[in-house]
Amino acid sequence: METATVTKRFTLAPLPYDKKALEPHISEETLTYHHDKHMAAYVNKLNELIADTHYDGMTIEDIIREADGPLFNNAAQAWNHEFYFAQFSPEPQRMPSGELLDAINTAFGSVDKLKERMNAESAALFGSGWVWLASNYDGEVMIVPKPNAGNPLTDELRPLLAIDVWEHAYYIDFRNARADGVKALWNVLDWRKVEERYTAK
Ligand code: MN
Repeated sequence: METATVTKRFTLAPLPYDKKALEPHISEETLTYHHDKHMAAYVNKLNELIADTHYDGMTIEDIIREADGPLFNNAAQAWNHEFYFAQFSPEPQRMPSGELLDAINTAFGSVDKLKERMNAESAALFGSGWVWLASNYDGEVMIVPKPNAGNPLTDELRPLLAIDVWEHAYYIDFRNARADGVKALWNVLDWRKVEERYTAK
């Protein structure tokens, strides 16, 4: 039987851990909604929007750099969420080391100071968005707050770490207390992953 099929150009990456594995910092219920509902919707919409356009066949990074409007929003949100979920682990490396630690100390004074600054930027970002740690191609690290689906790739920067400050990221576990939701993330942030991103060529 012939049926019309929509090419699944981009697929929903599975979470790299069990949905209970990050509790009590990120609950199973939050991950169920955030990954299986919110992220899945961005991936599905991205596939709908690229169908029969010249974007079909492009990398998601190139779509993010070139598109605007709904296509940018859904491509960036699909990318941002895969990147976000990949940085957590139930057995995280609790501190950065090596070149990344040196770069953080140079830019912020200490890892604690970096966390304080990212917490403050997360609280200050009005509405929905992301607070990024990113590096330039000289290896300098910086905090980059972005509204809505914003991503440092559009600034020729390398994303290293993402804090999702959309309400859907924290509302189930922390209700309106965004600051508490952000602070909880540091308990499961795997600095090993951030180092990999920093040193990737
Ligand atoms: Mn989100």
